[in-house]
Amino acid sequence: MTQSLPGQRPAHERASTGRAGLPVVVVGAGPYGLSVAAHLRAAGTPVRIFGEVMGSWRHAMATGMFLKSTPDATDLSAPEPGGRLADFRRVHGEPELTELTPIPCDVFVRYGMWFQKRYVGEVDPSRVVAVDRVPAGRGFLVRLEGGQELPAAAVVVATGLNGLAHIPGELRRLAPEGPGPASLVSHSSHHTDLSPYAGRRVAVIGGGQSALESAALLHEAGAEVQVLVREPRVLWGMKPDLARPWTQRLARPASPLGAGWVLAAVCKAPQAVRRCPAAARMLLFRRALGPSGGWWLRDRVEGIVPVRTSVRLTRAEAEGAGVRLVLAGPGGSGTTLAVDHVLAATGYRLDLDAVPFLSGAVRSALACVSGSRAPHLSASLESSVPGLYFTGSLAAPMFGPMMRFVAGTEFAARRIAREVSRTPATL
Ligand SMILES: Cc1cc2nc3c(=O)[nH]c(=O)nc-3n(C[C@H](O)[C@H](O)[C@H](O)COP(=O)(O)OP(=O)(O)OC[C@H]3O[C@@H](n4cnc5c(N)ncnc54)[C@H](O)[C@@H]3O)c2cc1C
Repeated sequence: MTQSLPGQRPAHERASTGRAGLPVVVVGAGPYGLSVAAHLRAAGTPVRIFGEVMGSWRHAMATGMFLKSTPDATDLSAPEPGGRLADFRRVHGEPELTELTPIPCDVFVRYGMWFQKRYVGEVDPSRVVAVDRVPAGRGFLVRLEGGQELPAAAVVVATGLNGLAHIPGELRRLAPEGPGPASLVSHSSHHTDLSPYAGRRVAVIGGGQSALESAALLHEAGAEVQVLVREPRVLWGMKPDLARPWTQRLARPASPLGAGWVLAAVCKAPQAVRRCPAAARMLLFRRALGPSGGWWLRDRVEGIVPVRTSVRLTRAEAEGAGVRLVLAGPGGSGTTLAVDHVLAATGYRLDLDAVPFLSGAVRSALACVSGSRAPHLSASLESSVPGLYFTGSLAAPMFGPMMRFVAGTEFAARRIAREVSRTPATL
């Protein structure tokens, strides 16, 4: 007998959903994919979910990293109460996390796996290599890495930042495919272990959390690190004050992304962000959350790891077994720096052309947010290709910065599940 997962409608009700048995395919099993799949399952919509459960958190973050967000902003979206990070800790007899306890990545990975077992059920770890439209009608053909193909009523892209790592042009030709300690340039997302750099000279490019935390881990592993930051200074988050007086709470209201009216507003009303003019949305997307380091990281970097600010990289050349960097800007004008390796913690570029599994036909049918290569989305996160949905960072230019974080799963998962579950497949 088929068992219902918590929050799921019973099997006899689920059989009558009228979707001709075709599943919705969710590509990606990170926080967004798991949350969407959990809501679809609870609504009785047939769903297949592909990808490695919490794959990015296992393979694109270095060992020893912590989440920058607070426990309250780190819940996956469950269809019923009981699926929060705090519930996971309580069920496992682990002490409650507060705003003053940074969350280790491995705790978050275990939480995601628990959530999957509880609300999602089976996840197929296969990679999706192609998504194409069925020539006539509404529906898709999804191909897996093993060559199997399956038809889908709808497809939800929840692949996060995979494939979107950005390495600046000056460095790109020195960056081979694989990271490996012998390569001259790599992206911060290529590493799970920074200890192979012990005893080596490493320049970290960037001034955000990834750059600063990677620099701390490299230093602690015994590397000789220097951080090169474009901005005039490094910004640090403020240690949360659990007893803030109401006047301060009113002046700078709390939000999942930090304190302040702008952040609180964009988190409260992502749908209002979508209705803003495109230029205002892009400004929000680029400026609402600049690069900064978590408050708890400061003591591991300041006065410990050399950080050069107002420095711009103009050229990088292979020299001997290492790299010579030519620097410009008030903090680096006319100087060069010789290192063994350059770690580009230079973020991600939201570019549909870098999502490798979308067919050319699908890609060319996708409307983009003006001035970007991110998808234009409806209020239900559906793209201009009917039945194709985007979540997470790729939805941030439409719905604001919360979509770049786990905190956006609640908004995205509920909307997508509601829309998908009521749209009949017409293959
Ligand atoms: C260093 C770093 C630190 C971060 N810290 C925080 C933080 O503290 N708080 C926060 O809220 N956010 C943080 N983020 C942002 C974080 O990436 C997102 O919040 C969250 O992981 C997004 O979830 P997602 O499901 O969209 O993507 P991901 O977590 O990246 O999951 C993507 C999923 O897609 C799968 N996948 C990819 N390609 C395919 C394919 N072709 N076929 C099948 N499956 C595929 C992967 O295996 C994985 O399962 C951080 C990001 C980075 C890079």
